[in-house]
Amino acid sequence: MSTQFLARMFSAYIGIDLGTANCLVFVRDQGVVLNEPSVVAIKVNTKEVLAVGSDAKEMLGKTPVNINAIRPMKDGVIANYEVTEDMLRYFIQRAIHTVPWLKRLLRPRVLIAVPSGITEVERRAVMDSAKHAGAGEVVLVEEPMAAAVGVGLPVAEAAGSMIVDIGGGTTEVAVISLSGIACAKSVRVGGDILDQAIIQHLKKEYNMQIGELTAEQVKINIGSAYPVRDEECMDVKGLDMIAHIPKTVKVNAAEIRKALQSPISSILEAVRATLDCCKPDLAADLLDRGIMLAGGGAKLAGLDKLLTEETGLPVFVSEEPLNAVVNGTGVMLQENSIWSA
Ligand code: ADP
Ligand code: MG
Repeated sequence: MSTQFLARMFSAYIGIDLGTANCLVFVRDQGVVLNEPSVVAIKVNTKEVLAVGSDAKEMLGKTPVNINAIRPMKDGVIANYEVTEDMLRYFIQRAIHTVPWLKRLLRPRVLIAVPSGITEVERRAVMDSAKHAGAGEVVLVEEPMAAAVGVGLPVAEAAGSMIVDIGGGTTEVAVISLSGIACAKSVRVGGDILDQAIIQHLKKEYNMQIGELTAEQVKINIGSAYPVRDEECMDVKGLDMIAHIPKTVKVNAAEIRKALQSPISSILEAVRATLDCCKPDLAADLLDRGIMLAGGGAKLAGLDKLLTEETGLPVFVSEEPLNAVVNGTGVMLQENSIWSA
């Protein structure tokens, strides 16, 4: 990872968090104007876009054969360039139309936060897609930097701050100092894999098939990384794999926590690996400053406690974890400065 520091005057109007699960748009002087799941529903034969965002997310797992609901950024890589472009176009155009003065600008400049693990080819593709979608100049920033700025970490100081951003498809861990990324890891483990672990658990223990959206609800309602809510239960509906009829089972938080253990250990591993590659003085700073959690995964109950136990460092959950990255792009827009590594 390069530690090159680039700060330059750049007056952009729109900031976008192009997440694997959610896409958020910030407009200068307005704040967050759009917050939608990164899902596009497409007609299979004509490739016509039928719905984008929450309308499309509702269709996930429920589409008839001629409709496909796609998450184009699913694994932190652009799985489908065309659909990513459709999605960006929809969000940029909608942002432009909700803010009257933006409509008067011909091609607004745009700042986009992308996962730090994406390739040069993918970076180019995001920039080209945004341009085709109506943006003027496009600048990319790395998500962990945007997240750190968004949660208010003192990124410019000559001292290490650690940010752990747990999204749907990826977890980004970075230690930041002097406005640059000193060391970072991006792993393809996030909330989606936790959902998959719940799906597998219900299959194995109850011979029951459940959809991804149901699994996500179980995770949000009773999921945890540490025994903080073990007394809670939830009725889960799905399909009995033997009798082939719908059924309901009661699951408890303790069994879900156990099912989540293995994917959560991969997140812990990424944190340890980042600490390992950190220079000793930066690592020492973290003893006082601790670790800041952001992204939707930061809301998993008890994750902060588990991380504290495993690393011995203080761990904090940011106030609006799902908005950390987009708020960071907002700060950069308002201050006319871009930090990127
Ligand atoms: P991305 O940046 O990849 O788009 P987000 O930061 O928007 O991802 O986070 C989305 C992930 O956070 C999803 O996997 C979602 O299930 C998860 N999530 C949201 N709320 C909670 C919660 N309360 N507990 C656990 N996970 C959550
Ligand atoms: Mg994100």
